[in-house]
Amino acid sequence: MSYFKYKITDECINCGACEPECPNAAISEGEIIFVIDPDKCNRCVGDFPSSQCASVCPVDACVPDERYPMSKDEALTRWQSTHPGQTPTAPED
Ligand code: SF4
Ligand code: SF4
Repeated sequence: MSYFKYKITDECINCGACEPECPNAAISEGEIIFVIDPDKCNRCVGDFPSSQCASVCPVDACVPDERYPMSKDEALTRWQSTHPGQTPTAPED
């Protein structure tokens, strides 16, 4: 099972709703629109069953970024490394 990190498209209207929802502080205000740092985005794996930025965006501007695939196991391992001893939220497929 492959997942993708997320990106923000030009459809963004700069409402700011997504930024506080990200469990990995991966979203910030860019020069023109909000942006996602692919080094921090983990598709919300471990924290939520699905992408939180996508769930709150009013214009569907948060979408999977095919430039950054990752396996489900890789995503869970990454989460567990920063949440030792905790149980991850099961991700949606
Ligand atoms: S998919 Fe999740 S981790 Fe990635 S930017 Fe969106 S809210 Fe943050
Ligand atoms: S929620 Fe959507 S429209 Fe609002 S800042 Fe984030 S990406 Fe842009």
